[in-house]
Amino acid sequence: MRSLVAGNWKMNGLAASLAELTSLKAALAAKAPVCEVLMCPPFTLLAQAAWTVKDAFALGGQDCSPKDGGAFTGDISAAMLKDAGASTVIVGHSERRQYHGERDGDVAAKVQAAWRAGLNAIICVGETESQRDAGEAHGICTSQLEAGVPAGATAENTAIAYEPVWAIGTGKTPTAADIVAMHGHIRSCLVRRLGEGARQMRILYGGSVKPDNAAEILNLPEVNGALVGGASLKCADFLGIIAAVKPA
Ligand code: PEP
Repeated sequence: MRSLVAGNWKMNGLAASLAELTSLKAALAAKAPVCEVLMCPPFTLLAQAAWTVKDAFALGGQDCSPKDGGAFTGDISAAMLKDAGASTVIVGHSERRQYHGERDGDVAAKVQAAWRAGLNAIICVGETESQRDAGEAHGICTSQLEAGVPAGATAENTAIAYEPVWAIGTGKTPTAADIVAMHGHIRSCLVRRLGEGARQMRILYGGSVKPDNAAEILNLPEVNGALVGGASLKCADFLGIIAAVKPA
């Protein structure tokens, strides 16, 4: 399986930020990455990004509606993302769960909407700090996977991102042993639920991945790539993470 390094710009980026994608495209053309690369800019930049990037790497959305279309002011459908140039959409990010009250059932409905439109889904799971302190981290991820990953998920149409909420944007990361234990746990849950094919499903790690910790994290067993927030905003940082992936 090829690793995937995915960037999430969150609510950052204006037209001038497309210069970072131009630089990324040039750098990847000069030195082909061993991993797949995906960038998820805000909705407003997606179509322009598609023109800029021209298939040099993949583009994705950061969320989508569970509905296919209609009277849902302010929402963006998966088909709109696809039309604008996305191949993938992030679903169930902890910031959506925290600030928009999204629950696992909403996540599952969004994933199904993504598949209907021909998009792949990256489904985010992860525990809060108090849940980890209470020894509940594995149980929380189990229930998020059971309720948030619909039947029909395959290694081709879905990836999982393990993102401990307390590690996002904080500079804190779990120990290598904790990441390995959680990714192994997620793999077992996926195989139990979806069958042996789920051994090929990517499990990304997300939470304060930077160029200086990427090599350690990205080469751990069962870590099949990264979902990167802050360090995806600058081409040089993101390239440093991409370069840390060793060939499979
Ligand atoms: C994220 O938003 O998914 C994320 C992992 O953010 P950061 O890399 O900034 O912690």
